[in-house]
Amino acid sequence: LSQLFRPLDLLGMVYRTIRQGLIDMEAMYNLIDTQAEIADAPGAPALKVTAGEVRFDHVRFGYDPDREILHDVSFTVPPGRTLAIVGPSGAGKSTIARTLFRFYDIQGGRILIDGQDIAQVTQSSLRASIGIVPQDMVLFNDTVGYNIGYGRAGATQAEIEAAARAASIHDFIMRLPQGYDTRVGERGLKLSGGEKQRVAIARTLLKDPPVLVLDEATSALDSRTEMEIQDVLRNIARKRTTLIVAHRLSTVVDADEIIVLDQGRIIERGRHADLVRADGLYAAMWARQATERDEPVMEPAYSTPH
Ligand code: ADP
Ligand code: MG
Repeated sequence: LSQLFRPLDLLGMVYRTIRQGLIDMEAMYNLIDTQAEIADAPGAPALKVTAGEVRFDHVRFGYDPDREILHDVSFTVPPGRTLAIVGPSGAGKSTIARTLFRFYDIQGGRILIDGQDIAQVTQSSLRASIGIVPQDMVLFNDTVGYNIGYGRAGATQAEIEAAARAASIHDFIMRLPQGYDTRVGERGLKLSGGEKQRVAIARTLLKDPPVLVLDEATSALDSRTEMEIQDVLRNIARKRTTLIVAHRLSTVVDADEIIVLDQGRIIERGRHADLVRADGLYAAMWARQATERDEPVMEPAYSTPH
């Protein structure tokens, strides 16, 4: 039985069920008490985040040791700066986020926060320092207030509401039948993608972590919602070290560094203007998205078979 129900199998199942890349890891850790593969080093100290520098140093990782997914990935995000990770689907972008959260242990290299190897500090201190806004938030079957308050144990109702206001979701919540006490999730009120994302943002604001990971939603939010969310995200990213997995290149134009990942390798890096000039994969992605940005999508009057 223990073979069948090893926590990691269960995690795999949850992953497959939830389709999209970076799900609500914190919630999952709470739901599934996994000690199986990731263990604190004996006598591990707590992570002490001072400035908030994040460094990947020749990181190698595969979910299956025989199939390496991240090949020699190195980058440094200086304190308070923003690194954008772009690249085709399956390139390993969400995997980078998962290894930073130490959802898995890497097989080569090191991941450092302010010079401390994340494998050598307690997992609880690591996870307390990193906030994640996943691309598809999984809500608890509980009240909307609980779902936000989960960001910080002992948060008061006033703090929860302040976070909700900052995430532009407070007014929406006040219009729900029972306000903050309205039940949401699978067995409660269904929230839209944009609403769930704002709940995730409010939760993260409450947590107030020095390091932030954003996995941008691929699914289309309507453009007003998207602009509102991007405004909120820009604000919360401003003072923290931020890693953003970006699908819309319009959101990475201002990043301090962009890395282009392809099949688990960094194939280009630099700032937006440099990468456009370099005329490689990034420039091609940019050109493609420019077409989508400028031309409204219309039903063709006559469709041509391809
Ligand atoms: P991206 O976020 O860039 O789309 P991912 O990091 O999710 O890509 O995935 C990178 C590669 O790792 C893909 O080939 C994917 O199939 C594989 N992968 C992702 N998650 C798992 C997992 N839990 N177990 C095994 N392979 C995985
Ligand atoms: Mg992904």
